[in-house]
Amino acid sequence: MVVPTIGRPSLHVLLDALAAAPGPRPGELILVDDRPDGEPLRPDRAGLPPVRVVRTGGGGPARARNLGWRTARTEWIAFLDDDVVPDPDWYERLAQDLADLPPDVAGSQGRVRVPLPADRRPTDWERGTAGLATSSWITADLAYRRAALAAVGGFDERFPRAFREDSDLALRVMDTGARLVRGQRWITHPVRPVDRWVSVRVQAGNADDVLMRRLHGPDWRRRADAPLGRRPQHMAVTAAGLAAVGFALTRRPRAAAAAAAAWLAGTAEFAWRRIEPGPRDRAEVTTMAVTSALIPPLATWHWLRGVVKHRRGTRWRGLPDLVLFDRDGTLVHDYPYNGDPDWVRPVDGAKEALDRLRERGVRVGVVSNQSGVARGIITAEQVDACMRRLTELLGPFDTLQICPHGPDDGCVCRKPAPGMVKAACAELDVDPARCVVVGDIGADVEAAAAAGAVGILVPTPVTRRQEVEAAPRRAPTLAEAVDDVLAGEW
Ligand SMILES: [Mg+2]
Ligand SMILES: [Zn+2]
Repeated sequence: MVVPTIGRPSLHVLLDALAAAPGPRPGELILVDDRPDGEPLRPDRAGLPPVRVVRTGGGGPARARNLGWRTARTEWIAFLDDDVVPDPDWYERLAQDLADLPPDVAGSQGRVRVPLPADRRPTDWERGTAGLATSSWITADLAYRRAALAAVGGFDERFPRAFREDSDLALRVMDTGARLVRGQRWITHPVRPVDRWVSVRVQAGNADDVLMRRLHGPDWRRRADAPLGRRPQHMAVTAAGLAAVGFALTRRPRAAAAAAAAWLAGTAEFAWRRIEPGPRDRAEVTTMAVTSALIPPLATWHWLRGVVKHRRGTRWRGLPDLVLFDRDGTLVHDYPYNGDPDWVRPVDGAKEALDRLRERGVRVGVVSNQSGVARGIITAEQVDACMRRLTELLGPFDTLQICPHGPDDGCVCRKPAPGMVKAACAELDVDPARCVVVGDIGADVEAAAAAGAVGILVPTPVTRRQEVEAAPRRAPTLAEAVDDVLAGEW
């Protein structure tokens, strides 16, 4: 289970419910603390699955969920938001929902109920929240196969808020030919208390709609079950308002009055549409009147902002699942056939580069040719001692692959053969297409290509020029290679 949280009090309501519910526990509860700072969360209470807390340092819901599933190792990842309350039979139903799903089903959505006040009509905000109950593929309660998330690089972190990032993921997963289904487990999603300006703030989502269209084409709303809403009317009302101002400034009073009347009529109609189904008390009517004047221009502004910002909507690549590093000449300075742990000396920035990957949930490993063993120059024990020293200095590594053979032994592991890259991927259950190999010579990137992985060459002064030129991807330093990987450019 992955629960991203910004430390809202509702988190503790959720944890209490998860601790008290009977039924089979998931392997682990990964709590992703998405606050920039603050005291460590105290999730522990009897009855929870084993809890692990990881921190993003603040990156938004998409990045938080990505760190959560990358940290997890189970076949299924059940996402729950930190403002929901699962039913008491949630664990049992989750297990039933996921049991025996055919392999082409990549996700199972839970069912959502939104309690509304019984004694009065719901406010605009309450009705909006109630829409979650009929929304498709919202991550308030959605379980995905980990492999399906890995195949598409997880959530697109260019969606900066909790809006559309879940629809986008669902569409990309379904683009791979997989299906999403609805399960039989239920959560309650209470209406969050908000101030009167919330309907104004959520207009920022218009920019995210532009990105959705860029990424998924004009048909995206039908596929994502996302109705268009009132943006066309908002644009017309905004245009009328701007025209009224323009005509007034150019001293055309009759045209200005006509445009102002059109603006007023459009704004009043919008306000009434929001007031009419609601409680119609003074607070709600005032809020609706004021915000109905603000929303059309803001919606238009955010939409235009999105058009500029998302001129190019490139496919989301996300992070690889595994980055493998050559050892000598890449992570540490190359002393040929070194058997002395004292001569294991990391290159500048190696530890930081590795830690930056680990912090994002990307696993790291080493693939190292050590033909000095076959040549009789060093012993296997010396290689082990040097690898232990490497781990002390730069570890932990998720996998260490060593080839002790010589060039003429005909083994499948010595780079440029793909054996070590394949073995590392197999050991960690990683698709080689989601694996990057970083090395300082042609054999490293050739091994990557032969395994179906992506190679990045970080040349040293002794790297042969034709190998540098032949490398499909290069970076000047180890740190810059990791920069590229973290930017999705791999
Ligand atoms: Mg090397
Ligand atoms: Zn070998």
